[in-house]
Amino acid sequence: MNLDEAVVESIVKKVLSQLEDQQPHESCCCGGECGVFKTMDEAVSAAVVAQQEYLGRSMHERAKYVQAIRDVVLDQENLEYISRKAVEETGMGGYAYKLVKNRLAAVKTPGIEDLTTDAMTGDDGLTLVEYSPFGVIGSITPTTNPTETIICNSIGMLAAGNAVVFSPHPRAKEVSLHLIRLINKALAVAGAPANLVVTVSEPSIANTNAMMNHPKIRMLVATGGPGIVKTVLSSGKKAIGAGAGNPPVVVDETADIEKAAKDIVDGCSFDNNLPCIAEKEIIAVDSVADYLIFNMKKNGAYEVKDQEIINKLVSLVTKEGKSPVTDYVGKSAKYILEQVGINVGDEVKVILVETTEDHPFVQVELMMPILPLVRVPDVDAAIDMAVRVEHGNRHTAMMHSRNVEKLTKMAKLIQTTIFVKNGPSYAGIGVGGEGYTTFTIAGPTGEGLTSAKSFARRRRCVLVGGMDVR
Ligand code: NAD
Repeated sequence: MNLDEAVVESIVKKVLSQLEDQQPHESCCCGGECGVFKTMDEAVSAAVVAQQEYLGRSMHERAKYVQAIRDVVLDQENLEYISRKAVEETGMGGYAYKLVKNRLAAVKTPGIEDLTTDAMTGDDGLTLVEYSPFGVIGSITPTTNPTETIICNSIGMLAAGNAVVFSPHPRAKEVSLHLIRLINKALAVAGAPANLVVTVSEPSIANTNAMMNHPKIRMLVATGGPGIVKTVLSSGKKAIGAGAGNPPVVVDETADIEKAAKDIVDGCSFDNNLPCIAEKEIIAVDSVADYLIFNMKKNGAYEVKDQEIINKLVSLVTKEGKSPVTDYVGKSAKYILEQVGINVGDEVKVILVETTEDHPFVQVELMMPILPLVRVPDVDAAIDMAVRVEHGNRHTAMMHSRNVEKLTKMAKLIQTTIFVKNGPSYAGIGVGGEGYTTFTIAGPTGEGLTSAKSFARRRRCVLVGGMDVR
């Protein structure tokens, strides 16, 4: 090869490799819609056809498709785009946190390995009990974790052999549709049937209702507030409800106070308090409350003591003390403080306010980094109050204590799906705590931290006679 040929060859190689790099973002190999349909009926019908075809695919192929979803989300350009776009479109949360959450969903959501088989053998033969798909699932997703929920539901539902029709929150439409298109392209490249993951071009309450009422939707999964959970549970279909929380954190006199203070600030400020599991109110034993406050301030809490400013905050961020004002949900502590005339630096992550139990900041699930602290005389009073302010959601609670007896007492009385001892709330979804992740935590219907097996039916297959080798 002469010099000119070598130069041409190196240029051709470079251009080809650049084209290859662009492929995951630009090419559409799934035909027409890329999973986004005009009407709900078209979307559901396409998913029905896809799921029928999917039934014929092997477990090895399912694993490959699940991996394709993980890979397309973990592509750095895609990860950064969906994280930035989610913040821009919803006006909630922070880019750096969204990166962590989207990556977490892509990496730590269980795949087909979750579907274990039970076998029973004996004189009468062999019986298998296996996890089998429902068919087409309708999944309703929230504004607070729009992309994380789509990622983790897509992985779990496809791992279990289903197709899924998403009904995203209208305020997260653009980013949700973009992600669904990306997933479809990646699935097409991996050889999956087209339209396993679909939605409509105009998500709306009417379209969500059309999806819920569609006869071909076999199962509904709602991740959101009490209204939508109640609606799916009244649908007459098999439904999973992942509803609201109001997680209390109890700190008693035996706790490592310095660590508790840091854990609480870190957990409460994660994605500006959007996660349903994040610390929403502190209940502290009086003898350690001052030292806890002192250490929280060292770790990024800004304490507001002026009653006038506290009242201003209440009228700014709540609707008459009953529900949060959407414009402030998922906003940073710095931004919220600015609105009441207080300028602070980026190091401030949480607004700390000492209140009484009946205060709206304690009672309302705010989903913003305003953290009330209530003092109590002893740990038993703290546990009782935690149970009351959790409102029976049975969602998430935290406790910082070295007293095993009291930790056990709180776990038993509060009955939350997630109970984190001596750590930040996010340890409960696999960040710095053991175990897999999910963004659909089903307290009301009891599946708990959902995974592939939550989206599957238990079926028994019986072979009669002599398969026993004992
Ligand atoms: P939301 O209830 O307003 O919306 C959730 C979804 O339901 C959206 O897609 C919305 O369009 C739809 N929806 C709401 N009301 C509806 C109706 N009447 N008819 C049809 N569709 C309807 O919730 P949000 O503000 O997006 O999310 C925050 C809430 O979700 C908080 O309460 C939070 O605790 C909860 N959440 C729970 C979990 C969990 O895993 N348990 C996870 C994330 C969020």
